[in-house]
Amino acid sequence: MMHTQVEAGRESALAKADFDAVIVGAGFAGLYMLHRLRRMGMRARALEAGSGVGGTWYWNRYPGARCDVESVQYSYQFDEVLQQEWDWSERYAAQPELLRYANHVADRFDLRGEIEFDTRVVRAAFDEAQGRWVIETNRGARLSATFCIMATGCLSAPNLPQFTGLETYLGACYHTGCWPHAEVSFAGKRVAVIGTGSSAVQSIPIIAAQAKEVFVFQRTANYAIPAHNVPLTDAYRASIKADYATLRARARQTMTGIDFDYSDALALETPAEERTREYELRWHRGGLAFLGAYKDLMVDQAANDTAADFVRGKIRQKVQDPVVAELLAPKNTIGCKRLCVDIGYFETFNRPNVRLIDVSERPIETITPAGVKVGDREYAADAIVLATGFDAMTGAILRIDVRGRGGMALRERWREGPCTYLGLAVAGFPNLFAITGPGSPSVLTNMLPTIEQHVDWIADALDYLRARGLSHIEPSAPAEDGWGAHVAELAGSTLRYTCGSWYLGVNIPGKPRVFMPYIGGFPRYVAKCNEVAARGYEGFMLS
Ligand code: FAD
Ligand code: NAP
Repeated sequence: MMHTQVEAGRESALAKADFDAVIVGAGFAGLYMLHRLRRMGMRARALEAGSGVGGTWYWNRYPGARCDVESVQYSYQFDEVLQQEWDWSERYAAQPELLRYANHVADRFDLRGEIEFDTRVVRAAFDEAQGRWVIETNRGARLSATFCIMATGCLSAPNLPQFTGLETYLGACYHTGCWPHAEVSFAGKRVAVIGTGSSAVQSIPIIAAQAKEVFVFQRTANYAIPAHNVPLTDAYRASIKADYATLRARARQTMTGIDFDYSDALALETPAEERTREYELRWHRGGLAFLGAYKDLMVDQAANDTAADFVRGKIRQKVQDPVVAELLAPKNTIGCKRLCVDIGYFETFNRPNVRLIDVSERPIETITPAGVKVGDREYAADAIVLATGFDAMTGAILRIDVRGRGGMALRERWREGPCTYLGLAVAGFPNLFAITGPGSPSVLTNMLPTIEQHVDWIADALDYLRARGLSHIEPSAPAEDGWGAHVAELAGSTLRYTCGSWYLGVNIPGKPRVFMPYIGGFPRYVAKCNEVAARGYEGFMLS
């Protein structure tokens, strides 16, 4: 009863609410956006479907979840005191630590009071008469705001494949991207894991260490580079903090926004022995920097083959059973799908309780009450883990009924694939922004600096409008078309275009095959955004 009254009170307060800006999502993007707007004195409110902050790190609580960009770089840089006071414990922080960090940021900047949790936005429509966005939630609230900012995440809409019979399954079924808060124990259980992307690569070794038996259903083998995760020492942390600004500045000059050793050499112009030494060195250092070995790896198939062969050789060395090793050795281009970073993934297949089931030719036919059926073989399982990824980049936004001028539906507008100006805004949808939207570098980069760059750009744009007594900003159709053509042209020139990845939307049945992120690199993208702003928001219509 008490609870109901409180809830009712809260809804009616929201119902009356008019804001300068509504932000959808309270992950790293939503948190920083809220902070920036509050600092500018704007009335902003964030609406978050989860019960807490942290986004990715709130939802992805599966065993083994951790970042694969080093923690000292996968962190905010907008506040020097924050940067100095936070101590990362490991080279790659695990999910609980990343979630603590997000909570620390929310508390430190006193953001919680402006966030409505357990609140999912279901509709956002631009009211042309009022010139305002009307935002509706699953709790029946209607808010109005001058600006609507989607901080809904690139990898936040879980992909639940439509397996026949899934609803008849009698065991426990989990998706890595919405893992329960209560501890899940697989001790003594038979577990079926579907998928072999990053989430599976991280979780399978830990699940296998607990479970009685694990069946891994693999449709496409994936490349993974060892993480060589280590605890960070005080001396290392001190050395980073002593000159954080220089590290961050160096990172901003790289394609990915990550400070690591990118070589300008070409694989095909390097003698084979020297090349192997270079790959060996990077393999032992670990992590995503492996692909920085040569400049031509992502543009020349023959160059790429040299790196792919090297990694396949390593997999064959690690996996004892040659048949299993061959199945685990990927056949496609390395780096075409997102490279994985692992801790003991391939070695896990040497355990007697782990079985690899190849579903590349014969797909999972159905889920039965007892387990997973492939062909005429049923794999009985007490639990199923769906490590089946996300409807990436557009999924979370399009799960909201977004309406622009004349009631135009964003779902309709993006039917043939997403189109944006700079990944930030959409023609026909005034005062709507997306943080790390399709057409921005986002998922091809360290996302923390990318998020900060977007948030700062949006905040500066709103400040620009306010200073000139303006209230509306919207990209022109030609500017949007031009950007779309540029994004597509660059995408076509890389090997990333050549496989069925989620970058292209291929993992979602019916999704248009469009390479969604901007592949021109972080510095080039930032330069373009800065130029647009310096020219009075060129390509945008202001009123
Ligand atoms: P998110 O963290 O996804 O937050 C979006 C929030 O919006 C969510 O909390 C969601 O509940 C909310 N939301 C969505 N729709 C609605 C709605 N309709 N109504 C209300 N709320 C809504 N990137 C890296 O750079 N390095 C890494 O190492 C890395 N590791 C990753 C590991 C995993 C397991 C995953 C899934 C992603 C990883 N990423 C990594 C990408 C990661 O998503 C970003 O780094 C970053 O956390 C994104 O922050 P965000 O705030 O933009 O989005
Ligand atoms: P993912 O990379 O999309 O992998 C999904 C897996 O599920 C793939 O192996 C896919 O096979 C498989 N799959 C999907 N539908 C299937 C079906 N119907 N039958 C059989 N197999 C099916 O998803 P993810 O692992 O969650 O990772 C998504 C992204 O999140 C990553 O690429 C990365 O950017 C980020 N992430 C990062 C980390 C990290 O290390 N920090 C960890 C997790 C996630 P196909 O390949 O054949 O489609």
